[in-house]
Amino acid sequence: MKNFKLAKVIIFILIVIVIILIFVRIDSSTENKQSRVLENIKLNKENKNTVINEPVKAISRKELDWKLTLVNSENKLPENYEITLASIDQYRKFDSRAIGYLNDMIKAMKNQGITNIWVQSSYRSIEEQTKIFNNKVKKYKNEGKTSEEAKRLTEKVINKPGYSEHNLGLAVDFNYVDNYFENTRAFKWLKENAEDYGFILRYPKEKESITKVTYEPWHWRYIGEENAKEMNRLGLCLEEYIQYLKK
Ligand SMILES: [Zn+2]
Repeated sequence: MKNFKLAKVIIFILIVIVIILIFVRIDSSTENKQSRVLENIKLNKENKNTVINEPVKAISRKELDWKLTLVNSENKLPENYEITLASIDQYRKFDSRAIGYLNDMIKAMKNQGITNIWVQSSYRSIEEQTKIFNNKVKKYKNEGKTSEEAKRLTEKVINKPGYSEHNLGLAVDFNYVDNYFENTRAFKWLKENAEDYGFILRYPKEKESITKVTYEPWHWRYIGEENAKEMNRLGLCLEEYIQYLKK
């Protein structure tokens, strides 16, 4: 009788071990790290004793879809990229999904006495970008540069059509598009608060070698609040942050 009881206990323990092993295998074979993190968060809510071993990165797939679209000198705006625009004012437009955050951010600044702030440039169509690009090339040619040289010099200061974040509708240039902006109260405020509205300083001074763009204190990009806060916390620029998320 005693032996029978003991056997039952041993069988029970074996079953528990097998179940644990199955779960460990399923868990380690899960490719999607993100869903595991989300699962852990869920588990943690249900059971306070669960330990989370990984840093929490609650980035939803939806956010990876459009908020983090990378457009730079090596990444052209996707061919079939669809964008619905909304008006900031009579001339300027922005992605309709993000315009509310831009308006709220500017409103918050004004409410805090920073009235000297305006959107100088936002969405630019490929046609507009082409026009700006060609005008600059023409200017260099008029100065006596060869076509090739003029184009090369232009590419240093103006993105080729389709390679500008302004074509994406998620970037905004403030005030005079001048380095002086760095010394304004508006810039100081943005550095501290823009992330609360999902905006980031896109081309920081210390990241020029990675962004391949010279420091632009006036250019801010919308990537969503969660992403902006996480990216700033990690001290990364957008190129680095996207790499980091892909790992
Ligand atoms: Zn810009």
